[in-house]
Amino acid sequence: MSGKRKVSYFYDPDIGQFYYGQGHPMKPHRVAMAHSLVLQYGLHTQMEMFRPRRAEAEDMHQFHTEDYVSFLRTVTPDNVGAHQAALREYNMYEDCPVFSGLWEYCRISAGGSIAAAAQLNAGASDIAINWAGGLHHAKKFEASGFCYVNDIVLAILELLKYHSRVLYVDIDVHHGDGVEEAFLTTDRVMTLSFHKFGDGFFPGTGDVVNVGHGQGKYYALNVPLRDGITDETYQALFRPILAKVMEVYRPEAVVLQCGSDSLAGDRLGVFNLSSAGHAACVEYVRSLGVPLLLLGGGGYKIVNVSRCWAKETGVALGLDLPEALPPTEYYEYYAPAYQLTVPAKSEGFPNKNTPEHLQALQEQATRGSSRSDGDGNWMMDGGLQGEHSWRDEALAHARPQMGMRPAPHAADVDVDAS
Ligand SMILES: [Zn+2]
Repeated sequence: MSGKRKVSYFYDPDIGQFYYGQGHPMKPHRVAMAHSLVLQYGLHTQMEMFRPRRAEAEDMHQFHTEDYVSFLRTVTPDNVGAHQAALREYNMYEDCPVFSGLWEYCRISAGGSIAAAAQLNAGASDIAINWAGGLHHAKKFEASGFCYVNDIVLAILELLKYHSRVLYVDIDVHHGDGVEEAFLTTDRVMTLSFHKFGDGFFPGTGDVVNVGHGQGKYYALNVPLRDGITDETYQALFRPILAKVMEVYRPEAVVLQCGSDSLAGDRLGVFNLSSAGHAACVEYVRSLGVPLLLLGGGGYKIVNVSRCWAKETGVALGLDLPEALPPTEYYEYYAPAYQLTVPAKSEGFPNKNTPEHLQALQEQATRGSSRSDGDGNWMMDGGLQGEHSWRDEALAHARPQMGMRPAPHAADVDVDAS
């Protein structure tokens, strides 16, 4: 890893105490577990640590409607019975339950991401981290997919005060729909999401033909993938596409949502990435040398989430952390291997992202863009760029590497400490 970066880390020690409810896959405790590893690896001595100000309703109004924010602030498990109509209106049931401390949870997640963005705006850091953020499904006026307040949109709005173009990259297994939707009609934010698409997988959006609207046309880019994608296949898409986007869009800041439900063995995810492959995305984006905001996101096997985000905190600092996990209060959760890296599955998990699928993806991309635009050009400050030519180029670059074998087998850790 090349070069030192000044890293700021935002953490509120209360985050681990929130509980979505029995059987709910989202466990904020994973952020506390990641933090524990960060401390025991000694990473706090190499970066600035902040306990961020919690977001206020006014901060949330930058994106969310006042009535929705007001409801989030008001509703509690005790008064929920009196709000049945509103719960339906704001989609706050099943996936998005009302739990004790919900408002504070939203304030912490959003406050951390806004503060991290402000730190980058001030030029005080090269990289800012908020693992309690990355809640990419929340909408302007409703909750969605375990997300209530879209801290990412709020952070990007903060970055836009000082940066003319912001690139959002999403490596969660789910489509970054809330962020894409928020910036669908602007060219000041480009969204790029790699995600599972098809078979009714949540949230169901993010096909390759969805490219944005109006002024934002071609500034939303989607890479729909199938089950079982490996580190090699993922990198073969991620790097050339990112490189091309950087070259053409020239963002002044990058926000990377590091949802770790794209790791092998996730309770909800269907990909086969190791945490080394996941972290390689962070390392690549870091190498671009643009102010970088790292956020959390999905991730439903908590021992995998914590190890992944600890490793990626190390990557931010340019450090390759030792494989042997340091002792923490959660040490036994990591039995029997007690190793940092989350391995990929070596068998029984076919990579359905075949060369044929990528070929089809490329054809869809070409068809979609020629259907959606008369001139087929992607307009940028730097001039005109053939929209599908670069996408074809990126995908063509990836194709010869598609037949690669899965990563060598390593000791698997298959414990769910939930
Ligand atoms: Zn997800």
